[in-house]
Parts: sequence; C-alpha cells; structure tokens
Amino acid sequence: MDSCSMSVRASPFDCLIFDLDDTLYPTNTGIGEALKKNIDLFLIEKFGFPENKASSLRVELFKKYGSSLAGLRALGHDISAEEYHGFVHGRLPYDLIKPDIQLRNLLLSIKQRKIIFTNSDLIHAMKVLDRLGVKDCFEQIICFETMNPNLPNSTRPDEFPVLLKPSLDAMKIALDAANVDPCRSLFLDDNARNIAAGKAMGLHTVLVGKTVKTEGADYALEVVNNLAQVIPEIWLGGMDGGDQRITRTKSELEAVLTTAAVGA
Ligand SMILES: [Mg+2]
Repeated sequence: MDSCSMSVRASPFDCLIFDLDDTLYPTNTGIGEALKKNIDLFLIEKFGFPENKASSLRVELFKKYGSSLAGLRALGHDISAEEYHGFVHGRLPYDLIKPDIQLRNLLLSIKQRKIIFTNSDLIHAMKVLDRLGVKDCFEQIICFETMNPNLPNSTRPDEFPVLLKPSLDAMKIALDAANVDPCRSLFLDDNARNIAAGKAMGLHTVLVGKTVKTEGADYALEVVNNLAQVIPEIWLGGMDGGDQRITRTKSELEAVLTTAAVGA
C-alpha cells in the first residue's frame, strides 16, 4: 500500500477515552506518591490502623476492591466519598503538575471525540486537567460520581457497592454515559487490569507508561505524547471524507510528529 492510499483510509476511531492519573501525566511527578501517603494517613488517623500496617492494607484494599474507599465501605465502614476524597485528594501538591503544551497540541490535533474516564472524583479531575492546561480539550469527564450516582443517598455502607474500573459494571456505566461504540473507540490507561477490562468490553486498548503490552492491550505507549508515533491511524482520513480535511489532518500530524521529535 502506498502512502497515498493510506491517507484516504478513514480512521478506525470515532472516540478516544483517556484515563487521567499516570496516563495524561507521568507517574514520576510525585502526585502518586503523595496520594499513597494521604491514603495511609487516612487509614491511620480515621481508623487507628498501626502506622506500619497502613501501606500493606492500602495495597490489599486496592487489589481486592479497586480503592481503599471501596474496600472500607465493603467491609462495613460508613465513610462518605466526599470525606475520603477531601482527605486524600484535597491536600495533594497539585503544583507539581506543570502545563503540558505538547500534550495540548497533540489533543487539539485529534478531531475525534475525547473523553476522560477516571476513578477519581470530579474536583480532582478538574484540578489536574486545569494544571496540565488541557481542560478544554475534552468534551466529557466520566469519574467517580458518574459510576456511583446513588452513593450520597446510601443509608448503609453495603447498600450501593462502590463501582470503579476495572469492574465491568463500572465500564458499562461509563460506555453508556459516553454513548460510544466500543469497536470504534480507543481506551488509554496505565493500569493493566483496566486495560483487560476495556478489552473485555470490546474497546481498542492502549497500555500507557509501559513498553511491553499486557493481556488485552492492543498497543503499549511509554508516554502519552508518543501517541502519533505509535498509533498514527488515529489521524487517518477526515471525518467528512473531503480532500481538504485529509490534507489538513496530514499536516497537523506532521506538526505533532515534529513537536514530539523536538521534545524527545
Ligand atoms: Mg491511572
């Protein structure tokens, strides 16, 4: 196939669904570490767990229930999501996240729908997107509140189990809220279990932050800013099928590739 026939092929994707934390910004910002510390502090201060046991409990709750909040509620502790998120996210050092112009240009060059799908609460998502300077690049934020609309009305902790990725129920709620066709959507996440769940839902999947694909991953991407190099077909064709659109899209792709090369 020559480059000409490549350029008139339509993109296989109508929509890109991005995880937020450790996907749109790298793990080494210090936010993830601060979050773990805050969760440990929450377990120590609110529940009196011994300091030397808090970290291992956090890891266990995350593995089994998806988050400490989900785990604590499943175990019968009546903690409100607001209280938990206020404690563990409210005091994060958000100034560690810097504006990412390269990411912004990349996102702006993608003409398809772009959606955030995060287990975090809406306030956290808005703060992070604002710090990165990409809030206006997304048409929708699917977050903790989207997957758990009834939680504020619960009268007992086991009434509405907390739903989060990678639960397939959570994935279903998100895909319904986004109103997307999974076969035409690209899902990017740094968590291998979320990627496997995405694949089970029929999504095309990109494992971010790794060089080796895990089960269910169609692509692996070390950093999100390498998207154009690894999945150039996102920019294929034009949604209106017109020649003008194809030319514009192609030159935008070249611009993104050039920026990426300079930034590398
Ligand atoms: Mg993540």
